[in-house]
Amino acid sequence: MTGLMREGDPVRRLEVLRGTTPPRPHDARAIAALAANPGCARRALMDGAGIDKDAAARHLGFPAPFGQSPFAITRGNAFEALVKADGCAELLRMLREVLGLPIAEVAYHDVENVGAHLRHAHTRALIDRAARDGQDAGTLYDHPLLSLGIAGHTAYLEPDVVAFQLGGRFHIVEIKSFAVIDGQADPSAVAGAARQAAVYVLALRAMLEELGHDPLMVSHDVVLVCPENFANRPVATLVDVRRQLAVLRRQLARMTTLDRLLDGLPDDLTFDLRPGEDGRPTRPVAELSDALRRTTARYAPDCLSTCDLCFFCRDEARQEGASDLLGRQVRDELGGVASVDEALGLADGTRDPAEGQEEIARLLRNAERLRRECLT
Ligand code: SF4
Repeated sequence: MTGLMREGDPVRRLEVLRGTTPPRPHDARAIAALAANPGCARRALMDGAGIDKDAAARHLGFPAPFGQSPFAITRGNAFEALVKADGCAELLRMLREVLGLPIAEVAYHDVENVGAHLRHAHTRALIDRAARDGQDAGTLYDHPLLSLGIAGHTAYLEPDVVAFQLGGRFHIVEIKSFAVIDGQADPSAVAGAARQAAVYVLALRAMLEELGHDPLMVSHDVVLVCPENFANRPVATLVDVRRQLAVLRRQLARMTTLDRLLDGLPDDLTFDLRPGEDGRPTRPVAELSDALRRTTARYAPDCLSTCDLCFFCRDEARQEGASDLLGRQVRDELGGVASVDEALGLADGTRDPAEGQEEIARLLRNAERLRRECLT
């Protein structure tokens, strides 16, 4: 950080928030999770500052419930290897089916072969050439490396495969090991995969734009490949990620204007864990907890599968009796009623509605009347 930085500068403020630890790089999963709860100022600030939320949650005594089991990781790797075997032969079969294209031959580039430090530049060169030449045959790029600017940092991202010239467009291919059974998959797993694929779509569109091509050459239909019916036979499905793209764009734009969220917070507010010489946090837990509570969270049950701070925020919402605990749909329907106690008071008439709450109070009283009728 240069000495030229103004006091109150958002970049400087974010550095103060992060404290002494280096910024944590964003991966696609972390960026995708931003779209899961776009209204949460706490998360936007912590991610904008590159704070290690997992370390903070552990220090607070609320470690996150994430982390794939070694068994699941091995299974996922084996499935991906199967899909990509023999120059992605199985994948090509599925792409022909799902995109309905008569591609007889396909060029296959494994970008990983060029070495990690050159992968991004090599991916750029290949994508530029494909977009410029518009080859007739299909092309598959295995292990490409894309990048995306996140709140002043560059995040490097690795989609499973990028397929080009299938219908004249680039398609992101996402390989997941959760099963599709009788044509149905776990909706939350599909939603997570769609958010992650949307990050890659955004990154590839940004790359094309930088190279002077039309970013819309990247399709909003991503190809999701999963095992079918408990067997390991892969099946591909097209997933439209336009909605996820819109949320992500909004959230990323919001992260570049974090100054509004920083307004109203003390200049010296920090989430620093103050690691000691052995790397362990020395910050008193109560102090860190108080600092976090100065920011506004928007807890929803979905946080349990997307954010490292979920148990901390759930505990906070429980203590406050927040209506957020009841889920996003109920919270939105209760618009303006912040706590469960308040909702119950409006429903049984022991609380007068504040200005603007008349309509929701009427609905709650009706619901309460119906409940009583049913019970008696
Ligand atoms: S767990 Fe907390 S910080 Fe994370 S998104 Fe949910 S409310 Fe925000």
